Amino acid sequence: MRLFNTLTRTLEPLEPLEPGHVRLYTCGPTVYDFAHIGNFRTYVWEDLLRRTLKFLGFRVTQVMNITDIEDKIIAKAMAQQATIGEVTEPFIRAFFEDLDTLRIERAESYPRATEHIAEMLTIADDLKAKGLTYESEGSLYFRIDAFPTYGRLSNLEKRELKVGARVDNDEYEKDDARDFVLWKGHREGEPSWDSPFGEGRPGWHLECSAMSMKYLGPSFDLHTGGVDNIFPHHENEIAQSEGATGKPFVKYWMHAAHLMVDGEKMSKSKGNFYTLRDLVAKGHDPRALRYLLLNTHYRTPLNFTFDALARAAGELQRFDALFARFAETRAAVGRDAAFDAKAEAMELEIREALADDLNVSGAQGALFRLVREANAALDRGELPSDSLASLQERLACIDGVYGVIAPGEKALLDPEVDALIEQRVQARKAKNFKESDRIRDLLASQGIVLEDTPQGVRWRRAVAGREGG
Ligand code: AMP
Ligand code: ZN
Repeated sequence: MRLFNTLTRTLEPLEPLEPGHVRLYTCGPTVYDFAHIGNFRTYVWEDLLRRTLKFLGFRVTQVMNITDIEDKIIAKAMAQQATIGEVTEPFIRAFFEDLDTLRIERAESYPRATEHIAEMLTIADDLKAKGLTYESEGSLYFRIDAFPTYGRLSNLEKRELKVGARVDNDEYEKDDARDFVLWKGHREGEPSWDSPFGEGRPGWHLECSAMSMKYLGPSFDLHTGGVDNIFPHHENEIAQSEGATGKPFVKYWMHAAHLMVDGEKMSKSKGNFYTLRDLVAKGHDPRALRYLLLNTHYRTPLNFTFDALARAAGELQRFDALFARFAETRAAVGRDAAFDAKAEAMELEIREALADDLNVSGAQGALFRLVREANAALDRGELPSDSLASLQERLACIDGVYGVIAPGEKALLDPEVDALIEQRVQARKAKNFKESDRIRDLLASQGIVLEDTPQGVRWRRAVAGREGG
């Protein structure tokens, strides 16, 4: 796999520190509100990256933090006279529901900032011991002047640094590169923790250094986010982590361009955003949104329009039509070696395109050709059973990356489940195990759990996916 490393601004072959195993940190949501579809452009792309790595045979350990203490959360809690937890809990729940709606695979863990204060303080302590900090008015700051490579990721020239000037906010612009806050002294009404530097709370940047290194080690492979994370967030993460450990922090940095609206970044503060829930409530298919977000290369800004969303939905119908044909086809027994070879070549093309810094257009071209070839073979009545079965397997494998090609199964209603269970009983009586297994798998795919009891088969719906971590 080749990928574009923000740190070196070149395409580089991916060589994980541990061969075959990619350790990936993806900056997660700040849970003071619903995530908007701009945020989901980044999360869907990270899901594409994760799934592609797995498709290419890598093992992936992905960590995504939940920022549950930060300036905006505190401001909201104070405005509502609520606790931090009361503000964040509903949005954490909503975030995981949205991940499921967009068919985003779960990371291996979702650590929360408020549960890692001790790890943050250890880093702050190490930085202090190394002379990289100073205290002022009850807060602890990182001295960027004392870290010679500060600015390497975001291409800051030394002259842009305002040495000695401080910034307390979690977010600020590139022309304001100053000593940044690691630990903020306690302010009236804000939540706080005890620390060697006095009572206070962590700065946002410190949160990600602590959680990434705790779960992935002091040096790991891949760290991602949207381009707005490059400065100051990721720049500061590097300074804190490498400053504290003396080891290289991250080998490859990757950043996604923004989802735009009328030429501007979609963002909460501009008010030009949609949440996933807004779109679903208007009757749009989340599968089409996923497809739309996936299909523009991650380093190209994507302008969101409802026309584009409708076009994405239209393209998905090509896949749906093909799958509907599969279900109707009575294929002759046998195999068509020439067709199989063509299909295999196209799958390889998809694989190679994705391995090339996630070249989604290249992959999509090959995928559409595969669909056309399949339709043409079906038109001629020339897709024998074994070739049809391998084609379906191939598409399922490719859909392991896309997550949108196979039509979503509509949820079964209770009477439909009852009827299927009865059909399965009959199939087993008739020793038609292929059919009974098919029904069992179909029910399992819908989260239906079967239990044999003396009174016969009972069923229940499994509890929806846990949030993990
Ligand atoms: P936040 O909750 O603001 O920290 O953002 C969470 C993630 O969404 C970060 O990785 C941001 O870079 C990313 N993000 C925010 N706005 C957009 C946007 N308009 N397009 C793409 N990614 C975004
Ligand atoms: Zn982060």
